Amino acid sequence: MTSLFNNYARRAVHLVKGQGTVVTDDQGKEYLDFTSGIAVVSLGHAHPAIVKALQEQSEKLWHISNLFESPEQEKLAESLTKDMDLAYALFCNSGAEANEAAIKLARKHTGKHKILTFKQSFHGRTFGAMAATGQDKIKQGFGPMLESFEALPFNDVEALTDAANENVAAIMLEVVQGEGGVNSVEPAFAQAIMEVCQHYGILLVIDEVQTGIGRMGTRYAYEQTALKPDIITLAKGLGGGFPIGALLAGKDLFDTFGPGSHGTTFGGNPLAIAVAQTVVDHVFDPAFLQAVQDKSAYFKKQLQAVLPAEKYSLRGNGLLIGIHSNEVIGPVIQQAEKQGLLLVPAGANVIRLLPPLTVSKAEIDQAVGILKNILV
Ligand SMILES: *Cc1c(COP(=O)(O)O)cnc(C)c1O
Repeated sequence: MTSLFNNYARRAVHLVKGQGTVVTDDQGKEYLDFTSGIAVVSLGHAHPAIVKALQEQSEKLWHISNLFESPEQEKLAESLTKDMDLAYALFCNSGAEANEAAIKLARKHTGKHKILTFKQSFHGRTFGAMAATGQDKIKQGFGPMLESFEALPFNDVEALTDAANENVAAIMLEVVQGEGGVNSVEPAFAQAIMEVCQHYGILLVIDEVQTGIGRMGTRYAYEQTALKPDIITLAKGLGGGFPIGALLAGKDLFDTFGPGSHGTTFGGNPLAIAVAQTVVDHVFDPAFLQAVQDKSAYFKKQLQAVLPAEKYSLRGNGLLIGIHSNEVIGPVIQQAEKQGLLLVPAGANVIRLLPPLTVSKAEIDQAVGILKNILV
């Protein structure tokens, strides 16, 4: 790997194929993939329906740019916003890009630039999204950040009410902080956010890049809270492995992004839309979402039954579950890999469990068995 930048501490596993929850390396060893490529392969690897959608589209049309009308984008926008206050969508290619669009939309709409964010948040690696991210380690070495962001302590009502005023354009948050340790917004905090938003006319931007598209057992995570966003951002699970991001916004914001105001060459590319439409058609089926909730409850119950409560506690919701440990969990991730279970951390002390939404109870049992071997 001499010609490749070293900006990832890569694991020494070369994965060559995947089917459902199982991935196989170049030695033929199989692993249960409880990372889903960081919450991306929502329907598992090589799901026949998305393979078919991609194959069919690849023989018709790959790319036309956003200079032409797209009934396919309109259909996906309708599917994403059905029965919601968020009425309009625009498509891009990643989570960071969706957040950049949200930052621009909020600033242009309000004519203000101050945006309140939260410690331990993660919003992406581009300049605006990096500035919005409430973790110093992400920003190190890159010089002065964009000034308009202030990261407040998460779930701290007093800090929020102190910082909110009529100069604030937007509040931006994750309902469950994925990268930052699987920390959920508390009901009282959600209430306080809604109060300051209404009082000062602040826009609410919810970053659903990790939590959206069924990951929490509802279409979007905010549906399980008192939060009523003006803008949400999506990516990761939306494309089931094909790169796509999206921003959804309420009616009031429609006029702010008129022709020429914002754009992207690849965003909403026909291949990405064909795959994402198939993902959304599957995941937004109420029976599918209910199954995610059932599997979540089952997974948590099985984990609670084996993990000693004095050392480990569970966090999160749906199929974004964190195991918080008193000790650093790096070695656990390595041992799990040896035993055939792929995991990702969320900070130093939290094991993040992100299986495909299609995971079976038998696969959950297998994963719990491996975790028990290592942790107990
Ligand atoms: C992964 C992530 C992002 C960044 O998405 P990219 O596609 O990597 O740019 C933004 N916000 C949240 C909550 C994420 O989990």
